[in-house]
Amino acid sequence: MRLRCPICGMPLTREPKRYLCENGHSFDRAKSDYVNLLRRQSSRVRGDDPAMVAARREFLDAGYYMPLLEGLKEILLRYRPEVLADIGCGEGWYSCQLVSALHQNGVDTVFAGFDISADALRYAANRMKRMGVSDMDWAVASINRLPLADGSCDALLSIFAPVEADEFARILKPDGILVRAIPLERHLWQLKEAVYPKPYENRPVLEAPDGFAIESVRRIETTVTVTGDALKNLFAMTPYVRKTSPADAAKLAEMVSLTTELGFGLMVCRKDCG
Ligand SMILES: [Zn+2]
Repeated sequence: MRLRCPICGMPLTREPKRYLCENGHSFDRAKSDYVNLLRRQSSRVRGDDPAMVAARREFLDAGYYMPLLEGLKEILLRYRPEVLADIGCGEGWYSCQLVSALHQNGVDTVFAGFDISADALRYAANRMKRMGVSDMDWAVASINRLPLADGSCDALLSIFAPVEADEFARILKPDGILVRAIPLERHLWQLKEAVYPKPYENRPVLEAPDGFAIESVRRIETTVTVTGDALKNLFAMTPYVRKTSPADAAKLAEMVSLTTELGFGLMVCRKDCG
């Protein structure tokens, strides 16, 4: 997929060591093969830190979220998008496997993954190489100013990530879709119970964002038993880690295994051109 120059908006050409636009704006390709297209890195918005990224990578690699991956795969194999972007792709666990599945099923999908964490994209690009998946670009970019042309994407993925409805609608083709995954009411409930004196349920909004119409909604609910290091990784990758007192976190450190509910809400939203 042709990424766009964040300065002038012209298409970027991928050269061996950089991305370059015809106005001479140039962006280095990192050794691991992602590009930073954020014009100014705000000190406030840094994205996930290396420890959080590593924890999530190890937890996801252990396969605990396979039901969500399978649900996403089913949707993408139904819609067969040729141009796909993952907004907030993290370390690419979902993206690489989904694009690989599309390729294996005869869809020549080209892909771009965006995140504000360079640490996460380094993992993503390495995963892509390890899996031998081609046609994937990875860029540090802001969710409200994505380096893609108007009307260029068949489908967007937003997995546990914020949605910027106007910007998503801009880069989607007229009949493009947004595939969104959000945590349901009791997602990780027993983990919350283990660390909080008074846990609260999530309040998922299973509705289309402005400018989109709901095409389908699916609830995936299951339980998993998480053991050993995976339990520490699960805790470290969630937002709870920042809001938990040392005393509450210590409760979890003593546990050897935890059986918890998982709940994923999966929505397909169609860009509403009417
Ligand atoms: Zn330019």
